[in-house]
Amino acid sequence: MWRLGGTCVNVGCIPKKLMHQAALLRQALKDSSKYGWQIEDNVQHNWDIMTESIQNYIGSLNWNYRVALMENKVKYENGYGEFVEPHKIKSTNSRGKVKFFTAEKFLIATGERPRYLGIPGDKEYCITSDDLFSLPYCPGKTLVVGASYVALECAGFLAGLGLDVTVMVRSILLRGFDQQMADKIGEHMEEHGVKFIKHFVPTEIEQIEAGTPGKLKVTSQSTDGTEITEEYNTVLLAIGRDACTRKIGLDIPGVKINEKTGKIPVNDEEQTSAPHIYAIGDVLEDKLELTPVAIQAGRLLARRLYGSSTVKCDYINVPTTVFTPLEYGACGLSEEKAISKYGEANIEVYHSYFWPLEWTVPARDNNKCYAKVICNINDNERVVGFHVLAPNAGEITQGFAAAIKCGLTKEQLDNTIGIHPVCAEIFTTLSVTKRSGGSIMQAGC
Ligand SMILES: Cc1cc2nc3c(=O)[nH]c(=O)nc-3n(C[C@H](O)[C@H](O)[C@H](O)COP(=O)(O)OP(=O)(O)OC[C@H]3O[C@@H](n4cnc5c(N)ncnc54)[C@H](O)[C@@H]3O)c2cc1C
Repeated sequence: MWRLGGTCVNVGCIPKKLMHQAALLRQALKDSSKYGWQIEDNVQHNWDIMTESIQNYIGSLNWNYRVALMENKVKYENGYGEFVEPHKIKSTNSRGKVKFFTAEKFLIATGERPRYLGIPGDKEYCITSDDLFSLPYCPGKTLVVGASYVALECAGFLAGLGLDVTVMVRSILLRGFDQQMADKIGEHMEEHGVKFIKHFVPTEIEQIEAGTPGKLKVTSQSTDGTEITEEYNTVLLAIGRDACTRKIGLDIPGVKINEKTGKIPVNDEEQTSAPHIYAIGDVLEDKLELTPVAIQAGRLLARRLYGSSTVKCDYINVPTTVFTPLEYGACGLSEEKAISKYGEANIEVYHSYFWPLEWTVPARDNNKCYAKVICNINDNERVVGFHVLAPNAGEITQGFAAAIKCGLTKEQLDNTIGIHPVCAEIFTTLSVTKRSGGSIMQAGC
């Protein structure tokens, strides 16, 4: 039902980064008094204005995509597509009107949708990230269920907007990410008012009061069987997303999916088990679920299919950022993966805390920002993992990702002259190894 742009534009990267920005502005307001700004104490946030501005911007992006399609003479059909023959798709629009399309080749890029818990009351009363960014009322006291980056980002900006936020976590934070970094993110969020209930899962959601927001009673159970109940205005489920591959007739052309996950395995040219059908993006098995990855794979596939290119998408060393209140940028391997790949004795981990200059005057959060590079000792200390917890971590990580793509070594990092005074300069002066146990606390600039 969305307009053009898919998850990223409508219910993903774009609205969440803008809401993250709204939350960062509250922190900036707090910091500003030490910089001489005299601001009234009772500054209020207006949810409706924020969502309206963000939705207006999304509308402009939807329109730009529409225009781009027209300019490139791409016919746009707004309908639900499914295979009815190996080379034929049926499209049904929102009014039930059916059309058929035949083609020599097909590309599946149907993405994923949020998963529900499958407990009483979840579909009736809970929301997901698909609902949050256009929610027509402030969610109030919120329980976020899940520990994915989507869960932590949403919890982070809701708390940053001043709401009472609790995150319910079944096991660990940010599975698949470097766990030391994940723990630091959790600690920072807790210090900034987000509550965590660990090793619990909700078992029932009941409505106590209808409204915008209403009141919900959440019953939850811990792994050892303890039961707790608590009232919230909103329950946001962020427990994962399922690939949209099960109801599009993929068996008809013979596209195999992983029956357990619904994901589509492809070869290194994004070709499925049906040779005339390709797939990219979040539906792919064992690939990163990120917008630029989907875009790059699609762009290169088009060039291979219809140009003379042979260049394949390189899924290695893809940088990424988690937009929690303290942002986390990463490229390459987590420390856990580096250890299992190379062996603990064969990696050197250089690390340090640092204190952004901007935070020194408001005197907050010293020794919270953290930089870590993981090097392969047997390959000239080549950097195989890059991790940073910092404001604007994404901006920092993007540049280093280019260097890592070029084969960056620790010596090259050391030979790079820093830019002073910025956070990223810490990567040019890392000298303490984890193995040494040396102090990495920072006193200031
Ligand atoms: C809350 C959130 C935050 C995110 N933040 C980031 C971020 O900061 N950075 C980042 O890189 N990535 C982020 N992502 C991930 C990113 O959104 C996805 O990786 C990206 O959108 C994947 O693109 P895609 O083309 O594979 O699928 P999608 O963008 O999901 O697009 C699939 C499209 O296909 C349509 N569709 C599905 N089935 C059919 C059908 N049968 N017929 C017709 N159309 C159909 C869907 O409606 C949708 O429009 C985020 C995701 C979420 C949920």
